[in-house]
Amino acid sequence: MTAHTQEASIQDLKRAWMEEAISLATNSVMNGGGPFGALVAKDGQVVALGNNQVTATLDPTAHAEVTALRAACKELDTFSLEGCVLITSCEPCPMCLSSALWARVDGIVYSADRHDAAVAGFDDRKFYDLFDKKPQSSWPTRIEHLDLPNRTAPFDAWLAKSDRIDY
Ligand SMILES: [Zn+2]
Repeated sequence: MTAHTQEASIQDLKRAWMEEAISLATNSVMNGGGPFGALVAKDGQVVALGNNQVTATLDPTAHAEVTALRAACKELDTFSLEGCVLITSCEPCPMCLSSALWARVDGIVYSADRHDAAVAGFDDRKFYDLFDKKPQSSWPTRIEHLDLPNRTAPFDAWLAKSDRIDY
């Protein structure tokens, strides 16, 4: 296979996976969930799927991407998704973007963006704007720095633990 046709087939795969993520998202709406779907793929294969389950599971963190990342880690029996790609029907919100960074995925592919989500009444763009433009003092959630003398004790214990599992 030439590099050119290889690249073309990777793009075909990504398109097929995105179609699947969009179907997941649309079906999620039919099943009473939020309009978001995601999947994790590795080596050309789908590893795990996820759809938005916030209202169904009373879990504000159960976004499609987080759900897919958790399922993929279970499936692969690891906390690192190096070598994986996250395909999501909509641009990840800041939480999902951070989750994907923590999971160490190789890449993220999205279709709808934060502006499309805003039109549908979702706060993704609003939260990006908070991070990008607004000082924390003006955020709707108050964030307080309470500086105790032993604040680094957990990190001291961590650094002193020779058999720790770094992540
Ligand atoms: Zn999210």
